Amino acid sequence: MTSGEPLLQTTDVGLYCSAGDFHVDPWRPVPRAIVTHAHADHACWGCGRYLTSFEGRTVLRARVGEAAEIQTLPYGESQDINGVRVSLHPAGHILGSSQVRVEYRGEVWVVSGDYKTEPDLTCAPFEPVRGHTFISESTFGLPIYRWQPQSEVFDEILGWWRSNQEAGKASLVMAYALGKSQRVLAGLAAKGELPGPIYTHGAVEVITRAYREAGVDLPPTTYAGQAEKKTDWSRALIIAPPSVQGTPWLRKFGPISTGFASGWMRIRGPRRRKAVDRGFVLSDHVDWPSLLAAIDATGAERVLLTHGYTSIVARWLQERGRDAGVIATRYTGERDDASEPEAPAPPASADGPTLAFQDEPEAQVSTDEATA
Ligand SMILES: [Zn+2]
Repeated sequence: MTSGEPLLQTTDVGLYCSAGDFHVDPWRPVPRAIVTHAHADHACWGCGRYLTSFEGRTVLRARVGEAAEIQTLPYGESQDINGVRVSLHPAGHILGSSQVRVEYRGEVWVVSGDYKTEPDLTCAPFEPVRGHTFISESTFGLPIYRWQPQSEVFDEILGWWRSNQEAGKASLVMAYALGKSQRVLAGLAAKGELPGPIYTHGAVEVITRAYREAGVDLPPTTYAGQAEKKTDWSRALIIAPPSVQGTPWLRKFGPISTGFASGWMRIRGPRRRKAVDRGFVLSDHVDWPSLLAAIDATGAERVLLTHGYTSIVARWLQERGRDAGVIATRYTGERDDASEPEAPAPPASADGPTLAFQDEPEAQVSTDEATA
């Protein structure tokens, strides 16, 4: 790193620290990647080696394959990489999600990755990290985004499930396979006795198993592909990724009511996607007040915004006397269409984690869905 060069900068493959010669969340394979979390827009397949949090090891493994070299770091502990001090701190987004703190010659940068400050039963709570420069996501960086208490959302899902049972319909919740699905499972279970059995799509089941393997307590689930022929689907809740929408995979469940759990439901609701009956506002990103509070808590002199409403948030901060700007990346945050920021892109291998579900094509998401 030459003098005057920023500690982290964007290159055509991702955020790069030249002093330490490593990338943070690169979008193309690089020799050394520090990964904030295992969503595909942050964890690309094929890097020489990965460094991630200890808590995130099983989900990253499920995304980048058995052959990948994954090193782990407990939250709060630091590692020296070519003279640069690197540590990981909980981001509260999904299991194992981290903010990356990078320190070199007294200068500290913090890369937030995706984050939320609401509690989540499936991951460690967000921890403010102080630094000189904070690179923050801004997926929902508009004042209209304010999340209702999640406890109410889980009550809504349970109420909808029960009314579908009375109407003789299966209940299908579409949610990202990595993170949101497990948060829904844990949130429903925390409410007490469940109204019926829970079935999963293969892509959800693979990740749910990785969560359990990492020690997260989740209610029992059955992979829908292994359900008995005579299953009474009208009692069941089925959790599947949004990519199942409009596919033949849904036919086996008979009469069905569909819901979608996403932060985008705050404004767009089910109207925008006519095939969805209910929208549940549940996001794994900060809402507007939490975004501003999180930025304040870093004490950062400079804030750089990535993905989402970057220029709006930057201008809002500038108008209040903050040094703020936009840093271009390819991260997508939470998508508002059927594609997910989490599609695995490894080639099929004999021991690939998704192979158990080969009978179910949707469990293997194609590379063109691996949105950058
Ligand atoms: Zn994410």
